[in-house]
Amino acid sequence: MSGRVVVLGGSGFLGSHLCDQLLARGDEVVCVDDFSTGRRDNVAHLADHAAFTLLEADVSVGIPVDGTVSGVFNLASPASPPDYLALPLETLAVGSEGTRNGLELAHRHGARFLMASTSEVYGDPDVHPQSESYWGNVNPVGPRSVYDEAKRFSEALTMAHHRTLGTDTAIVRIFNTYGPRLRPDDGRVVSNFLLQAMRGEPLTVYGDGSQTRSLCYVEDEVRGLLALFDSALTGPVNIGNPDEYTVLQLARTVIDLLGSSSTIGHLPLPTDDPTRRRPDITVARAELGWEPTTSLEDGLSATADYLARDAGIVAPGVPGSAASESPAG
Ligand code: UDP
Repeated sequence: MSGRVVVLGGSGFLGSHLCDQLLARGDEVVCVDDFSTGRRDNVAHLADHAAFTLLEADVSVGIPVDGTVSGVFNLASPASPPDYLALPLETLAVGSEGTRNGLELAHRHGARFLMASTSEVYGDPDVHPQSESYWGNVNPVGPRSVYDEAKRFSEALTMAHHRTLGTDTAIVRIFNTYGPRLRPDDGRVVSNFLLQAMRGEPLTVYGDGSQTRSLCYVEDEVRGLLALFDSALTGPVNIGNPDEYTVLQLARTVIDLLGSSSTIGHLPLPTDDPTRRRPDITVARAELGWEPTTSLEDGLSATADYLARDAGIVAPGVPGSAASESPAG
């Protein structure tokens, strides 16, 4: 059943793909963003869509949405470590006041609220893989705590709203996601490695590269968010790809895939960088019938194609890149 859905953080990497998929299935979409880390370009193609509205607002101050609302997705937050480390107070504000404003909007309208939480609530996990029942191992005073604890607070607030006021809520724990519309300067591992490989620069592996991540392609991730939103589950539910790689394996995969001449270099490991991460998606599989289907190679190729265009890189070997589309340029 289609409705009028508010996407907080709707012009971000993940939010803009969510707007696309909501519109494609017939929902009206109100996208709210302050463009602090989201980009206008991500939703520029929707500007003339009759069912799409774009509002510029900082959701930690207020959410100026009029009319009916059937659903609220809260994706408003810096999400890349360099972004949230550069915006520590804003990250805490949006995780607390922004989430409160989103919950109040949903409650006022009897709308379903989906909180985009994160695998970072598990911190540096001493349980592996991470299932939803694991409480996590987070440093509450380290630099990453501005994001981790903001999301943990968001989860607590969401559950308190649900228990106390009966607000219809769901919590999704999103694991590392990549794909087109990652900003070239986002700073996360996939965009960094792809751009470095395309430019023939050394890939910046932090630490010895033995830390692991499990990478989910954005279309799979958004399909999971929608499946949870459409269900009656409260969650939390892990949505991520359980295929786990070391960062060094990822670097080698990127170099091989792009046929790059890049070497691998090493930089210091960021403080409190989790040593391993892999979602247990038993709940998503059983309760939502969801699992990721995009291979790492296919996902990386699509992301490389996007980044090459976005950064204007002439990169032979990148399908659809500036080079292959415009031989003269
Ligand atoms: N990383 C890296 N080089 C980079 C960027 C990230 O080795 O240029 C590592 C980082 O230390 C972490 C992993 O890649 O272990 C994933 O980092 P990202 O910032 O993408 O996300 P995180 O999982 O830390 O939130």
